[in-house]
Amino acid sequence: MGAGLAFDERIETIFQQVRARNPGEDEFHQAVREVLESLGQVLAKHPEFAEQKIIERICEPERQIIWRVPWQDDRGEVHINRGFRVEFNSAIGVYKGGLRFHPSVYLGIIKFLGFEQIFKNALTGMPIGGAKGGSDFDPKGKSDNEVMRFCQSFMTELYRHLGEYRDVPAGDIGVGGRELGYLFGQYKRITNKYESAVLTGKGIGWGGSLVRTEATGYGAVYFVREMLKVRKDTLEGKRCVVSGSGNVAIYTIEKLQQLGARVIACSDSNGVVLHEKGIDLQTVKRLKEVERRRISEYASAHRDAKYIPEGNIWDIPCQVAMPSATQNEINGRDAKTLVKNGCLAVAEGANMPTTPEGVRVFQEAKIAYGPGKAANAGGVATSALEMQQNASRDSWSFEFTEKKLDGIMSYIHQTTWETAAEYGATGNYVAGANIAGFIKVARAMVALGLV
Ligand code: GLU
Repeated sequence: MGAGLAFDERIETIFQQVRARNPGEDEFHQAVREVLESLGQVLAKHPEFAEQKIIERICEPERQIIWRVPWQDDRGEVHINRGFRVEFNSAIGVYKGGLRFHPSVYLGIIKFLGFEQIFKNALTGMPIGGAKGGSDFDPKGKSDNEVMRFCQSFMTELYRHLGEYRDVPAGDIGVGGRELGYLFGQYKRITNKYESAVLTGKGIGWGGSLVRTEATGYGAVYFVREMLKVRKDTLEGKRCVVSGSGNVAIYTIEKLQQLGARVIACSDSNGVVLHEKGIDLQTVKRLKEVERRRISEYASAHRDAKYIPEGNIWDIPCQVAMPSATQNEINGRDAKTLVKNGCLAVAEGANMPTTPEGVRVFQEAKIAYGPGKAANAGGVATSALEMQQNASRDSWSFEFTEKKLDGIMSYIHQTTWETAAEYGATGNYVAGANIAGFIKVARAMVALGLV
């Protein structure tokens, strides 16, 4: 793939070994293959990485923790879930990455997310290693008390692996302000320490950072703005589609609207809302952030909007597409439809939302395609800003923090662009992100010796 990027035999052999050693973990294989496909020329330029077996080492997590999470529902019935934390790489900083609570979670999902996190975190320019965790617990339809009991049980094991200087989780799908509050409360109780920087995404009144809530979505929009700038274009008046309606989607829509774009559709796992006049964000926020309802109810509040049950959001013609729901939500067919309908730019707010076939379609069509590990790095970057504020017992203003986020996203865009060009793949942000993220971590691994 990608101009001049040889996927040489050695890398193919490494990939086959990773697949054989980690059977049944399809998403992890997919994430590894995508990174490894970019690294042929890197090995050619850096024989020390090959000698030190950096690729083989980077594909093996430093530590994987799996535990039982028992909890009781409001009727007193006992439930057993599984907890995971994969501490993937700590060469450039503490383990850092979110927790996902979703019934689809198993080791392969956590490992794909943890693996991507290594390179994403490196790209931010901040000193953070890669990790991910979560559970197959489904917060949907659970009462606040049930979620609290689950979080307390989950943290009762996890706490011993965490620490400001060790491992710092945050949120992801199914883990937002409410869950982080319960998790932090239990950590504080067990350790008898107010260790603010042990978790990020905290509430504003108890150690959180302004802009963290908005950061992933805002950052993804800044990334699109930069990609369009290269093409001498702007977001002004662009017709946009944003999948999902969770935290990432909401703040993607907010920033797109602030920059003059028109967002006409969003979705949840049940269906799609199409509102040609432009999505009313206040309604989405009320339904999703306050009432925890389904997006179908949007149509009751807006008679001119259309709800399409089980609809495919990528069938809606748009100029900018921002997948902000979950992995593999755009397949090859969806990508072809987007390109055929005149889509100019795709930036991934979700992690790995495009299948390998979809990525190929975008690249062959030469549209601006920003992969998740670059485009959605604003979330974790702002987590690192939250850690800075916690460490210095300071809190920054919204404007100051947002400016920092904007600067980081521009830096990531520039780095990925320049790296791709240096490796003969101008405009290929996949190659740029994989190579730049990998080289930073690989250099640190060489410097730290065989550990
Ligand atoms: N879960 C987010 C991500 O995928 C944020 C992680 C963090 O803030 O640590 O990057």
